[in-house]
Amino acid sequence: MIWVAYAVIYGVIFLAGICIGSFLNVLIYRIPLGINVAKGRSFCPECKKKLQAKDLVPLLSFFVLRGSCRFCGQKISRRYPAVEFLGGMLAVASLYFFWLTWQALLVYAAVCILLVIAFIDIDTREIPDRLNIALFVLALISVFLFPDITVIERVIGFFEISLPMLLLNLMIKDSFGGGDIKLCAACGFLLGYKAMLVGAFLGILTGGIYAIWLLISGTKSRKDHFAFGPFLSFGLIVALYAGTIIWDSYLEIFMF
Ligand SMILES: [Zn+2]
Repeated sequence: MIWVAYAVIYGVIFLAGICIGSFLNVLIYRIPLGINVAKGRSFCPECKKKLQAKDLVPLLSFFVLRGSCRFCGQKISRRYPAVEFLGGMLAVASLYFFWLTWQALLVYAAVCILLVIAFIDIDTREIPDRLNIALFVLALISVFLFPDITVIERVIGFFEISLPMLLLNLMIKDSFGGGDIKLCAACGFLLGYKAMLVGAFLGILTGGIYAIWLLISGTKSRKDHFAFGPFLSFGLIVALYAGTIIWDSYLEIFMF
């Protein structure tokens, strides 16, 4: 009956994760507006009425309220339950890859920040400095929690993607946002050069496909910018869980 114990642990972690996801929604909404993230109850962005406790249950409230505000009937963005669900799924992934360890907690904190970065970048085309600083602080702690990644590997990772981006920016002005560059530096130190390469590759690949699709469909012209942060965040989240596994299996192809 060991599977029951596993199911309970995964269930509890998922529920805790969607509550964290609910808080991530607060961060995504409040950080760009400069509102204190710890103070004051959440309110409806439309009618500004404070939400009641029963409206604040992650995932459930959205479905009970059928996706609209109790007071003014304004539609609630589907992004809210989506971010809550992602918060839960990333918690489950952290448990799956690292079990109940400090390592799991550190990786979960990092992927949550990347999730917040992705959505803030979609909204504002900017990545707030303090989120990149938070990632860098986690990277410093990870030196002790993930000693397999050497400091030299981390220093190489710090410059590996950020420096070429910076140089490209000197040649073609504003190819990348400053936030993207700082994000790549912080995550490079966190991941080391191997996993960072995997993360950046996945980000550039998915972002590139999206850019080509935008050009073909005629939604945007060549000169327009699009938010690269979400694609970078996606690649980096995958790299945080499985970067080394992907790197090793990639090298194995050339061993035979
Ligand atoms: Zn309302």
